[in-house]
This record gives sequence, C-alpha cells and structure tokens, in this order.
Amino acid sequence: MKKNLKPSTLCVRGGWEPKNGEPVQPPIVQSTTFKYDNSEEMAMLFDLKKEGYFYTRLQNPTNDNVAKKIAALEGGVGAMLTSSGQAANFYAVFNICEAGDHIVTSNEIYGGTYNLFGVTMRKLGIECTFVNPESSEEEIQKAFRPNTKVLFGETISNPGCKVLDIEKFARIAHKNGVPLIIDNTFATPINCRPFEWGCDIVTHSTTKYMDGHATQVGGCVVDSGNFDWDAHADKFPGLTTPDESYHGLTYTKAFGKMAYMTKLTAQLMRDLGSIPSPQNAFLLNLGLETLALRVRQHCANAQKVAEFLHNDPHVAWVTYCGLKDDASYELGRKYLPNGSCGVMSFGLKGDRDTAIKFMDSLELINIATHVADARSCVLHPASHTHRQLSEQQLKEAGIAPDLIRLSIGIEDADDLIDDLKQALSKID
Ligand SMILES: *Cc1c(COP(=O)(O)O)cnc(C)c1O
Repeated sequence: MKKNLKPSTLCVRGGWEPKNGEPVQPPIVQSTTFKYDNSEEMAMLFDLKKEGYFYTRLQNPTNDNVAKKIAALEGGVGAMLTSSGQAANFYAVFNICEAGDHIVTSNEIYGGTYNLFGVTMRKLGIECTFVNPESSEEEIQKAFRPNTKVLFGETISNPGCKVLDIEKFARIAHKNGVPLIIDNTFATPINCRPFEWGCDIVTHSTTKYMDGHATQVGGCVVDSGNFDWDAHADKFPGLTTPDESYHGLTYTKAFGKMAYMTKLTAQLMRDLGSIPSPQNAFLLNLGLETLALRVRQHCANAQKVAEFLHNDPHVAWVTYCGLKDDASYELGRKYLPNGSCGVMSFGLKGDRDTAIKFMDSLELINIATHVADARSCVLHPASHTHRQLSEQQLKEAGIAPDLIRLSIGIEDADDLIDDLKQALSKID
C-alpha cells in the first residue's frame, strides 16, 4: 500500500489488499482453527518465532485486515480488534498494569469506562484517581504516585461533549514516565488523530461511528509504537522482563516497536479471549468504507441542530464545541478543525419530567441506548446509561441531572429540526 494516503482513501482501501483474482471484499474467515502439514511449523507459531494463524482466539485473518485498516487510519504501528469498546479500554490499560498499580484518568469519560476503572479494576487491585481535565497541570500532577502507570482521557467526552487538551495530557503523562491512552471513539481518526498530538495508545468503541449502522458491538486498541518502555523499564516489567508464559521471551527485546501490540494479542487475548467474530469484523469493515463520508454529514447536521437548539427559548444550555460560546470551542478549533462529531448534550428549562416529556414526544428521533449511528437518537443519562451512579458521582462525571444526550444521524437536518420543534412545543 502506498504511503501517506488520505483518510478517505484508507477508509476504502486500507487493510485488505487483494491480489490477482482475489475478492475485493476481505473474505469472512469464519473458522476457529487452521491446518498445518507438519508439527514443527505449528510449534514455531506457538513460540512466536513465525507469523501465522492457528486459532482464532489469538488471531484471525478477517479481524487482522480490519485492524490493519484502523491502524493505518490512526497512523499506528498495529491494532487489535476486541469484542467491545469496554474490552478495548480494559485491555489497553491491563496490558501495562497489574495489582498494586495505579492509573490517573479524566473524570469526563463514558459511564461504562468510569465503572470499569472506578469499581471493577479496583477489585483487581488497580487503583484509580479521577481528575478534572480542565484543572491546571500542577493540579493534575498531584494525582500521580510512584506506582502510576497510565494517564487516560477521551478526545470528546461521552456524554459531556468536552474536548480534551491532548497536548497538555501528553505533557503530564510523559513527565511522569507513563503513556497517554485516549479513547478516540467520538472524534474518529477522520476528525482527530491523537498520535499527532503526543498520545501513545488509542482505543475505540467501533460500535459507534466506525460501524455507524448499529450492526455490531466491537472495539479496537491501536499503538503508536512511540512510547519508550525500556526507558521506564522498572515501571513496565510486563514488557521489559521475561514472560514466563512464552519461554522467557522479553517483548521489548524481541519485538521493538511492536512490543505492546504483541503482548496484547499473544498474552492478554490468549488468556482473556474477548475476540470479535469474523462476521462482526466484516460488518465493521463495511462501515469503515463510508466513515469519512458519514462523519462529514454527521458534523454538518449536528452544527445546524446545535445552532437551532442554542436559539430556542425552551433550551437552557447546549454543549457542542462547534458553537462559538462553547467552553470547548477553542480546543475544538485546535484539535478538531474539520468538525467534531454528531453528538451534543443539552438541558431544557424545567425539571426531570420536562426532559422525559420532550423525549417521549419525539416522533423521528429514537430513544436508544446508542450514539454515533446513522439514525438520530436521544438519551437521558441520569435515567438511562448512568443510572447506577449516585448524585455525587454524576456530578463528578460532569453529568448534570437535566443533561439530554442527542446523537445526530445522517438524515436530512431539516427533518430533524422539525421533529425537535414539534417535541419542544409539547412541553409548553
Ligand atoms: C460506547 C463507548 C464505549 C464502550 O463501548 P462498547 O462498544 O459499548 O463496549 C467506550 N467509550 C466510549 C467513548 C463510548 O462511547
């Protein structure tokens, strides 16, 4: 594949490169296992001395082709697909953390990730400190401990729609000798490539824009290959000292820039096994082919809708970084100059019941626990996705009780605005 291809081209052409007479679509290799003629060859695969397929839990050709496309889009050295975005964030962090370690994360993150880090990882002995991403570098620095291994954030937070100052976060992470991991689900590599701003590892819920048609739940971890694990060898023994489960192989020595990715697939996926089915990877790939096209339409529509809501008297506030008076407007201009995403959050004048009356009055826009899909949808996090969080946790996660999350699809913007107008008129 030619170097320096533009994202729109990579969406269509990245990953699978058919040879003479081969299908243009990557074949769905729906097979658990692969046959070999002699035992020696199979043994070399198990020892990581040779590349090849032997069991789909570790690697599968369909999945790898799609991962390769996402790696190319993000500008990374490699990528691995997972069965969900949750699995992607867990794997990305757990690949370099173990019991007794600590992570620092922005508190402006997806509710599922908030629970994963704050509750479930804690049970594994990994502590987590949540920080306000808008705090000063000095303030965020205070959260770091000698055993901190990761700094984490979201390019555009779900559901708060705040834009992360990636360069600031990268500076803080690197000053402390740890990688910056960013969940780039909402921005997608079409609108932001975090590696260009100093981020080290990117994760995705491919369930969202990358799929775009609500057909598969999936995730992806991409490594830039830029973080120097050996320079902080004492912090990352899993990568820099021998792995007993691979005959004492040391990932950084054996695989260089591919150390993190190799450990992720050969060790973590081997042992935990959250793979996507090849059929799902195929569906994801179909979505990726039109990602650049769809993202443009999502952003154009969302800008019109955000401006409409901003000017409507029923609406108390709107958070969308494309609005000039938005708190993230300047960060959006810097990191997302071509547009942010189709998701915005807003609050109505009134109480919780006002929000519910409004949502129940929508005719075209669906109430759905989903975002970043071709179909516009709406959700009330305090009553839906984040209902497990206490009032205090909601506040800490930056979610106002009146916050309505609106995900604008690729329908005609005028039809969406008409639907919003009629629903708003019902709450008078
Ligand atoms: C949805 C989402 C996730 C979780 O992904 P699943 O595919 O639902 O497991 C993680 N991060 C962000 C930003 C999300 O929007």
